[in-house]
Amino acid sequence: MTTDPHADARQRLLAEIDADFADTAADTGCARAGDAVRAALLAVPRERFVPAPWRDDAFDNRPLPIGHGQTISQPFIVALMTELLALRSHERVLEIGTGCGYQAAVLARLARQVVSVEIVPELSARAAATLAELGVHNVELHVGDGHAGWPAGAPYDAIIATAAPAQLPPAWLEQLAPGGRLVAPIGAHGGAQWLQCWHKDALGRATPRRALAVRFVPLVGGARDT
Ligand code: SAH
Repeated sequence: MTTDPHADARQRLLAEIDADFADTAADTGCARAGDAVRAALLAVPRERFVPAPWRDDAFDNRPLPIGHGQTISQPFIVALMTELLALRSHERVLEIGTGCGYQAAVLARLARQVVSVEIVPELSARAAATLAELGVHNVELHVGDGHAGWPAGAPYDAIIATAAPAQLPPAWLEQLAPGGRLVAPIGAHGGAQWLQCWHKDALGRATPRRALAVRFVPLVGGARDT
């Protein structure tokens, strides 16, 4: 059996994530990451997704640069958003903003299939290579403007955005299945952004549930909302 040289660092990071969950529970309604999310966080090697100069920092609870002016989210935020999605193993999830593919790899351990859209072709290509190296086969990557979601795969049981639009693009709610959950940062770049969690009921009515003040990179691209 091979032992993980970073096992202690991963446990330390999980303890910091636990502390952040406790600190924000009043806002998020989420006191702790569940066992499935914890296991996924321990199993996915974040250090493999960040560019070489940042490998040693991969166990810190903070965002890191991934090139093209983009960042991989803070591990606590990845954990929180994943927890809020409440994924079940037979479900399909759409991610807007593949970036380095780390969040997609975490989702891939919890859902049957992940469809992920990225606007920067080079980032998508690198994410594809990393996911292949790690043997992750249930992530389908596409290059495109995530404002439109990915209609070909709709409806999705869950949708997660890792870049912030000024307003929720209508396509996202349209592509959410009844009973589905959507977690996204919403708000103008440089202004206030809130993590919103939407739930679509059996009749197709969607209501936002929770909010936490966050700071994400903006959702860029053609169908820009003002
Ligand atoms: N989930 C990613 C986080 C990446 S940061 C990870 O785990 O690494 C957000 C990503 O959204 C960036 O890669 C950025 O290029 C991408 N992005 C920004 N605007 C987009 C758009 N309109 N459509 C798709 N992706 C977009």
